Amino acid sequence: MSGYKFSQKLTKYLNKIKNETGRKIKFLERSDLGIKGTTAAYRYNPQYILIIINPENHRSKGDIERSVAHEATHGYILHKLGFCLAEFHENMDDKYKMDVQLVFTMIEDIVVNKIIQNNGFPPFGHEYLPMVNKEIEIAHEGEEKGEIFYHKFTDDPHLEALLMISRYIIAWGFLRYYKLQLSDAEIINKFTSAFKRFYPDYYQFAAKIEEIIEKKDIFKGNDECKAILEILQFFKLSEGVELVRD
Ligand SMILES: [Zn+2]
Repeated sequence: MSGYKFSQKLTKYLNKIKNETGRKIKFLERSDLGIKGTTAAYRYNPQYILIIINPENHRSKGDIERSVAHEATHGYILHKLGFCLAEFHENMDDKYKMDVQLVFTMIEDIVVNKIIQNNGFPPFGHEYLPMVNKEIEIAHEGEEKGEIFYHKFTDDPHLEALLMISRYIIAWGFLRYYKLQLSDAEIINKFTSAFKRFYPDYYQFAAKIEEIIEKKDIFKGNDECKAILEILQFFKLSEGVELVRD
């Protein structure tokens, strides 16, 4: 993270995370973060909170700060709030791991973005709403065009389906759990409506996940673990992984 100087607000927030988790925050640079276009990622480590930054993805200072706050908060919910992490059985392949990780991310991100919003950071970056607008347009062209669009982010069809579903769940989570500006909420609502109407095959899975989340309080570690396990079972992804606590 050479060349960046964090604002006082972010420095204060990272210090709070460091103090409350007893872990130092470390930064690494890597350009391949799995799903294409990803700018930052959190990696579990028992000793540190590791944040990986993609140096090839250039964004505004505000968006970089928000991303860093977001990724550090993934560490915070594991080390401080008792949320679960995936411990894979031996010899599970990378594709399987990425599928499982995406299920974790779609649930955790609802929690993480809410925590950063409570700490004065925007719940989403500047690229989010333009992307959602683009996704509304694509959805109106039907399921096949939608699949082609999401295929750009991953070559793996299974991961692509999960990615589509996760886009719905994240959007639905904003409407369900966040205070948003009316104009922002309207855009997100247009997307969830279009998703339901134009991606019926994917929506039936998304609706099931919505139902699982609704029955729990995913902002609490225990409930979040149970919700993730149920979703993994629903997708038949639970065989090669244990959900453990730090
Ligand atoms: Zn995240």
